[in-house]
Amino acid sequence: MKAFLFALVVLLHGNIIFCQDRALVGAKIYPSPTEAPIEKGVILIRKGKITAVGSADKIVVPKTMTVIDCRGLILTAAFWNCHVHFMEPKWEDADLIPAAQFNKQMAQMITSHGFAHVFDLAELSIGTVLRIRDRIKKGDVNGPVIYTTGVPLTPPNGSPFYIEPLKLPEASDPQQAAAHVRQQIDSGADAIKIWTGSPVDGGKTVYMPEEIVRQVTQTAHSLGKPVFAHPTDTKGVIIALDGGVDILAHTAPQDGREWSADTIQRMLMAHMALIPTLKLWKYELQKGGVVDWANNAFMLTAQQQLHDFSKAGGTVLFGTDVGYVPDYSTGDEYTLLAGSGLDYRNILAALTTTPAQRFGLGARTGRIAVGMDADIVVLGADPALDIRSFDKVVYTFCQGRIIYRNIPPETPVR
Ligand SMILES: [Zn+2]
Repeated sequence: MKAFLFALVVLLHGNIIFCQDRALVGAKIYPSPTEAPIEKGVILIRKGKITAVGSADKIVVPKTMTVIDCRGLILTAAFWNCHVHFMEPKWEDADLIPAAQFNKQMAQMITSHGFAHVFDLAELSIGTVLRIRDRIKKGDVNGPVIYTTGVPLTPPNGSPFYIEPLKLPEASDPQQAAAHVRQQIDSGADAIKIWTGSPVDGGKTVYMPEEIVRQVTQTAHSLGKPVFAHPTDTKGVIIALDGGVDILAHTAPQDGREWSADTIQRMLMAHMALIPTLKLWKYELQKGGVVDWANNAFMLTAQQQLHDFSKAGGTVLFGTDVGYVPDYSTGDEYTLLAGSGLDYRNILAALTTTPAQRFGLGARTGRIAVGMDADIVVLGADPALDIRSFDKVVYTFCQGRIIYRNIPPETPVR
């Protein structure tokens, strides 16, 4: 019987590490971006779910629970990074990487920044990310829940200059595009990524014909999957809108144009979401030798686009393009988002509730509430006071498991 139960738990949880029941005691809790914080709060976790939330004087901590002392710390739902890549060579053969090395790599890039969910927006081979995902599900290593767009699609002669000499698949007609979409989703992709505008050599942009974009979105939507687009510039945004794209993978400052009120209105009507990736522009400007990147027109245009879109009520998803950008820290992205007019509640929403809802998981994750998955981040300082505190992570929990901690294992206080 015991063996049967064990097998059942393995089946149900998809891994062989049992989630320990724990009480997180003493933190200031932000249950969601819109609710009032709970001072000196307590959270109880059983079997990977949150079973109680409240102030310390109202919650009784069962004697059997392991207590983690969170006094002086800040606690929110764990974060989403909606734009990552596992394209660095160190992720090849992920099923063979020693567990300690795997955990170290994953901590450096993902879990030490509070991410328990990531959306991988393009690989050269979907096999790489599927191996990483399967390895985490097996349970001998730590990592986030991973979603992927698999191998992306570009317009004819539209592989972006920045991945040269590599080339990405191209679609020259709608049939090819539909076949690509079906193939990626059959292989395990959760979404599709395209370039509606692709920056190529010589400062030119190659655009994807609208009928191809439309075929991509129709095929993906018929299979229940969203479509992400790299727009490059305003024309790329308009093609994405005309073609029915769901999410912009970046702001689009290449042409130096702010988005008109009409364009923003169309984005809102289409429920199009935006991943700003502002730190990416810092990285690209610095790579191009621009010292005063913060005052460069490219960066200022991107920030203005985000500012206007956000103020109009647009849906913003957090994402950093980490894995393409070799610097894994997230502090600069928070500073740049705040500099675009987003406050800590807006940024917390982009990190938690908004992506959870956008990807159909709002009833399960993204908030600290009874019955939700125990996807939790514990921070060393309050982001309401200093926005960069979102990157001062002490613990990251994913479905009740500690997938990252920057202090020694907790010692039970009783
Ligand atoms: Zn990217």
